[in-house]
Amino acid sequence: MERPIALTGGRVLTPAGDLTPATLLIAGEEIAAVAAPGEALPPDVETIDVSGCIVAPGFIDSHVHGGMGYNFMHGTREAFAGISAHLARGGTTACLATTTSAPLEDIVSALANIAEASRAPQPGQVEILGAHLEGPFINREKAGSQALEHVRPPSASEVQALLDAAGGALRVVTMAPELPGAREAIRTLTGLGVQVSLGHSTASYEEAREALEWGVRRATHLYSAMPAIHHRRPGAVVALLEDPRVFVELTVDGMHVHPAVVALTCRLAGSERLVLITDGVDVAGLGDGVFMRWEGTPVTVQDGRCRTESGTLAGSTLRMDQAVRNMVRFAGISPAAALRMASENPARALGITRKGALAPGKDADVVVLDADLTAILTLARGRIVYDGRTTPEPEE
Ligand SMILES: [Zn+2]
Repeated sequence: MERPIALTGGRVLTPAGDLTPATLLIAGEEIAAVAAPGEALPPDVETIDVSGCIVAPGFIDSHVHGGMGYNFMHGTREAFAGISAHLARGGTTACLATTTSAPLEDIVSALANIAEASRAPQPGQVEILGAHLEGPFINREKAGSQALEHVRPPSASEVQALLDAAGGALRVVTMAPELPGAREAIRTLTGLGVQVSLGHSTASYEEAREALEWGVRRATHLYSAMPAIHHRRPGAVVALLEDPRVFVELTVDGMHVHPAVVALTCRLAGSERLVLITDGVDVAGLGDGVFMRWEGTPVTVQDGRCRTESGTLAGSTLRMDQAVRNMVRFAGISPAAALRMASENPARALGITRKGALAPGKDADVVVLDADLTAILTLARGRIVYDGRTTPEPEE
């Protein structure tokens, strides 16, 4: 057994949402205690002084495709390790490996690899909690940068093939509910505990309300790849925002959604239902340049904006700590509230109780952030997965 770790001198985000001066004590893979400052510690403890910093639950990125040149569709250990290093730098300790539209056999093989990785978390890596299937069951008219030739309506046999491949690791499925066969697919998936997320869809307000009846409980990157609100055609956005049962993914990079709309959304949905995501793609973490995405699409990254040749925004290069900082700035909310949108809310949305809060018995998934809300130390299950105190920031 490794020595227990004590993070001392910081302000710890409590499950009640306060930032309280405290010592966070980690034993093995779990949080042992949140102790008052100065309380006696075990004699063999390894103390890490985090004075002036915030200690928060590790971030859970429930919509991320890759990073550092790797995509979860690759499905290799090398890819998972590379993406893990990138995510950990932003304070992420767990994620849903997110797939994209592709031939069935490619998605099946990616899901099988993701499932295997989720069953055996690699010590020292960001934990893969399962898969988020984004495509192929999306609307061609709102496919965004996804490969149109692989986009199709859901069929019972394909849904079953994907469920079989994932072996219980399929957590979220993004779907356009207006597609033929969607109702049956949504019923099947939600009946098995898979969260269905409305996205890449042309659904009207009425169609979205119906989909909520069928079991949809989530919105995939709200506003992006769905019709904009019109005062006579409110569309899915209004149906999703007004329903208190729905968790709302938001890409808060300042490009996908205007800061004023981020603030408005926060006021409308409240801080309990917003789930910060990065929607990070394989070129995230590589800096500016022209790159080939995993499936061969050329993309250009300039000032952090990732676009295809036609100019479509193709996911983001956002990091979770940046999303938290942006949220504070755009919506004028407290750091504590924004931090919960990156940890507690995604855990709650997925029904994961062992993560998303700093309390005894929970997984020791922890991010330490400096006063500017930049992640400087990340621990996943009690192991350091990123240490910004020794690793200099790369030039971006
Ligand atoms: Zn995505």
